Amino acid sequence: MALLRHTTSETKPRSALTVNAAKTCQPVGAMYAALGIHRCLPHSHGSQGCCAYHRSALTRHYKEPIMAATSSFTEGSSVFGGQSNLLAAINTIFTTYDPDVIAVHTTCLSETIGDDIPQIIAKAKDKGHVPDGKLVIHANTPSYVGSHVTGFSNMVKGMVDYLAEADDLKAATFNVIPGWVEPSDMRELKRMMALLEVEPILFPDTSDVLDAPLTGDREFYPRGGTSIAALRKTGRSRHTFALGAACSAAGAQALSEKCRVPYTTLDLPIGLQATDRFVDAVRRTAGVEVPLLLQDERGRLVDLISDMHQYLYRKRVAVVGDPDHVVALSEFLTDLDMRPVYVVTGSPGKSFEERLHDRLQGRVPEVKVAQGAQADMLLLHQWIKQDPVDLIVGNTYCKYIARDEDIPFVRFGFPILDRMGHSYLPGVGYMGGLRVLLQILDAFLQRKDRDAPEESFELVM
Ligand code: SF4
Repeated sequence: MALLRHTTSETKPRSALTVNAAKTCQPVGAMYAALGIHRCLPHSHGSQGCCAYHRSALTRHYKEPIMAATSSFTEGSSVFGGQSNLLAAINTIFTTYDPDVIAVHTTCLSETIGDDIPQIIAKAKDKGHVPDGKLVIHANTPSYVGSHVTGFSNMVKGMVDYLAEADDLKAATFNVIPGWVEPSDMRELKRMMALLEVEPILFPDTSDVLDAPLTGDREFYPRGGTSIAALRKTGRSRHTFALGAACSAAGAQALSEKCRVPYTTLDLPIGLQATDRFVDAVRRTAGVEVPLLLQDERGRLVDLISDMHQYLYRKRVAVVGDPDHVVALSEFLTDLDMRPVYVVTGSPGKSFEERLHDRLQGRVPEVKVAQGAQADMLLLHQWIKQDPVDLIVGNTYCKYIARDEDIPFVRFGFPILDRMGHSYLPGVGYMGGLRVLLQILDAFLQRKDRDAPEESFELVM
């Protein structure tokens, strides 16, 4: 806090220094994606410290214990490579924990050494460490490039590379790659597909894994997650909907190249227009009607938007988070007649600014956009000091800026370390849009109550 209180409004060109990064490391995303496979044990090929960090980053957000194994690199492995550690780990994991699949992701150290994971997996099979019917998949996740978003995308692509099976005999299923969203969002996407009477294969799927109910029974592997059979079948699906270009497009493209499954890349269905586009894409591709229930949900969202418009009109907002989140959120905020004037993502990646401007359609000409290593929380804070905003939307790290500058704050994205609800209630779809809008309205109305002089302190808003 003391550090932030000394933040000045003067920005200086920086080429190497990052202060309070607006991203985290690749393996965190790979681990989250791997947890969305049924009976999968994620495995971090690196030091214990890396694995402890990845697990704690996810545990703090999802408030669930995160299971994962590690190659436990020592000085020896750092010099000679981690092959013997990974071989021993694969043997131990299958013998002791009996997963259906181990999903290995690499770390900075193993990538720097240059460990050849496919070769090590082949050797593990030769040595009989991989029992019949069991699988080992992998994704390269060097953390000195990309971010947790890249790691998620790489592991999704790994699922396709290892598991999807091509077949000319097409199934009736439609793949949905949901991107990095909450377990509640994955459940909501499945509910929407069910309402549309379309059979989805959602992968990965962390619902009933990271929001599993407390039953009193201990299940080492929760009942949720995409099954191996379903992942194999993705190669026979009629179409893939890749939600969020940064997280999902690479997997969809790999599936198209490997199994000739056509795909459509869409924004995360956060807010009115993005959800409309998702529903419409499913409707047209699958040749189905949009049911009244879904139309009514949309109507309720539109009703709330028009009823509460006076609290939203022209409010200046700072948005920070992952590329797929902030693109969709910024469009939603603009549709609410708010002005996302600062949009920041620490995750590198192609076409972010282009996608953002495409969604804003010139409606916020003053918008300032930053992406990459120097697009950090310091820069966001400095911009806010130069020209304040009425609201901040982003992850928990924004709370310091919100407190220092006394700005209403809505938590959205990853990580949220100090509040609950995000993994239980959706942020996608029309119902998710309703929830996000209510959070924004609550933030404004609570501020209004706090600051209102006695004579205008209202019972009814
Ligand atoms: S950034 Fe690299 S060294 Fe640090 S936790 Fe992530 S993988 Fe490990």
